[in-house]
Amino acid sequence: MESDIQSVLDLNPEQIETYFSEIGEPKFRGAQLWKGVYSAGYTDFTQFTVFPKSLRERLASDFSLRTFSLIDTTTSPVDETVKFLWQMTDGYKIESVIIYEGKRVTFCISSQIGCPLDCKFCATGKMGLLRNLTHAEIVEQVMQMKMRSKYPPTNIVFMGMGEPMLNYDSVMRAAEILSEPEGLAFSRKKITISTSGIIDGIQRMANEDRPFSLAISLNAPNQKTREAVMPIARKYRLKELMQAAKHYTKITKKRITFEYVLMDGINTRDADAQALIELTKGIPCRINIIPCNSDDPHYQPPSDAVIQHFDQLVNKNHRTITVRNRKGWEIQAACGQLYATNEKNKKATLYKTLKHVE
Ligand code: SAH
Ligand code: SF4
Repeated sequence: MESDIQSVLDLNPEQIETYFSEIGEPKFRGAQLWKGVYSAGYTDFTQFTVFPKSLRERLASDFSLRTFSLIDTTTSPVDETVKFLWQMTDGYKIESVIIYEGKRVTFCISSQIGCPLDCKFCATGKMGLLRNLTHAEIVEQVMQMKMRSKYPPTNIVFMGMGEPMLNYDSVMRAAEILSEPEGLAFSRKKITISTSGIIDGIQRMANEDRPFSLAISLNAPNQKTREAVMPIARKYRLKELMQAAKHYTKITKKRITFEYVLMDGINTRDADAQALIELTKGIPCRINIIPCNSDDPHYQPPSDAVIQHFDQLVNKNHRTITVRNRKGWEIQAACGQLYATNEKNKKATLYKTLKHVE
């Protein structure tokens, strides 16, 4: 069974070298294997024609190149946003999304199975945390989508399930492999790590001089509202978060993206727009306005008129604002939602079952 075979993606270069030396093969085989796995993206050991046939067969019996099985895809009939639901070898499920917008092709990937932070408007939050993803499972999402995408990705965003900063090491290792020349060689700046505001992680990214882009989900312009929708705001308070954001832009000389999910009756007033402008003043940034997309009647998007008005209010202040396109709207592309729909259809929820096992 595939689950008994180790994934090549789990191995680091040293482990691969050790493996080859143990089976009496020269060191350079390691680099050849790495190149085939990541640069060439081979999905079958028969494709490794640089190796003698016997070695290909040996590798095929010792390792797998892919571990996910695709159990559901949903394609929006309107804009061709595609959402994938994968099953992992231990039975857990995660999702990833491709969003096609003109020349922009965004791969949205997950960093955890579920999320412990329980944001009120978020479907993933309702699952709780089931486990962290390994760096290999994070990279595999990109590899699997590349095999199925109409075009190669132009952007990779950690905006699927989970809080990347709570799985920091695996997320950074995955981002390295995605961007290393001998890995997937994807542009480092075009990899965006989105956080709900875990200050330690933001500081660590700045201090370690990580070359990736950072997005912070603000979702509210003041402490009180933020706490009401994002419980983690009690620990990482807005004031300190904004200081950390400022510090990050100073040290890295990079712009931050702030995300702001518009929720009707919660954070959409003119005063909220003003407070958002005040809050982000002096920080080099871009603000993404995202209409909330949820089944929950308490967390609905405002009308198009309100969305536009909010956008204009903030725009008046001459900053770059993008109302995140409604792509994926029809297939519920906001985080965790394909998962939720799939599970609802089946009535028996896998994540609940697994939660009891934990
Ligand atoms: N945990 C990280 C990254 C995953 S969530 C974070 O919170 O930033 C990615 C983005 O999806 C966040 O900006 C989050 O605010 C947004 N989001 C979550 N639920 C949503 C919903 N129901 N509708 C619209 N956006 C949502
Ligand atoms: Fe977790 Fe992000 Fe969802 Fe909040 S919005 S529950 S941090 S995935």
